[in-house]
Amino acid sequence: MTPRDALARARAAGVDRLDAQLLLAAALGRPREWLLAHDDEALPDAAHARFDTLLARRAAGEPLAYLLGEREFHGLLLQVTPAVLVPRPDTETLVDWALALLAGPLADEAAPVVADLGTGSGAIALAVCRGCPRARVVASDASAEALAVARANGQRLGLPVQWLLGDWWQPYAQAGVPPLTLALSNPPYIAAGDPHLPALRHEPRPALVPPGGNGLAALRAIVAGATPHLAPGGWLLLEHGHDQADAVASLLRNAGFDDVQHREDLAGHRRCTGGRRPAPAPV
Ligand code: GLN
Repeated sequence: MTPRDALARARAAGVDRLDAQLLLAAALGRPREWLLAHDDEALPDAAHARFDTLLARRAAGEPLAYLLGEREFHGLLLQVTPAVLVPRPDTETLVDWALALLAGPLADEAAPVVADLGTGSGAIALAVCRGCPRARVVASDASAEALAVARANGQRLGLPVQWLLGDWWQPYAQAGVPPLTLALSNPPYIAAGDPHLPALRHEPRPALVPPGGNGLAALRAIVAGATPHLAPGGWLLLEHGHDQADAVASLLRNAGFDDVQHREDLAGHRRCTGGRRPAPAPV
């Protein structure tokens, strides 16, 4: 069995060519480029066996990121395990919005405090921490297992995010985090009956589906609890489903937020909605 045979076998199993190359490179412990120059060389038995296992798992729908143990997000290489959602390119929209606020309307804040609620792999928090070194970034998750993945990513990347265990807003007051300049979250927002869920079965369900039926429960809880944790004039930015932008905008307006607006993902869906806690009127 040569790399050429291995890739033909992957094609027959219906596995994407790039995925197959990355899995074969991982099985060999070599960079992907190595495969090109060694197309007709017999694979060591152990690598062959490792590749067969990885290929079978990929063909059965396991995300490539779990099989490789890593995924790139906003220019950072993150380690991921099945304890965390695989970071998505859509979520880079939320990070870009946060960094634009920090570099623009919030540029005068010398030491902004930024929170990432439900951080999973740490993707949002770490990308904001790298993109805005003057910010103090705090991130939380209700899953201790997820938080261990996030913390390890922070350590490996040398990014000083503070990690807190707990549900939505609960850990912030407890940890004495100062009023937030900016709060971010990509919470679970998929409805329990959504037809896309079977394809996401390898990812942690609590990271995808909130309690209740329509996918809004976590977004609702975060908006409902936000105001006391935000500094006056502080922002709350949320990622949500492609058809939830109007619902999230209503939640924010009803909770007293100003400047409610949206940002689109790469597919042109309104994927993020956010608003500002009113600053007190000047006296
Ligand atoms: N965007 C993810 C998906 O649709 C869901 C992420 C989430 O629920 N927060 O696959």
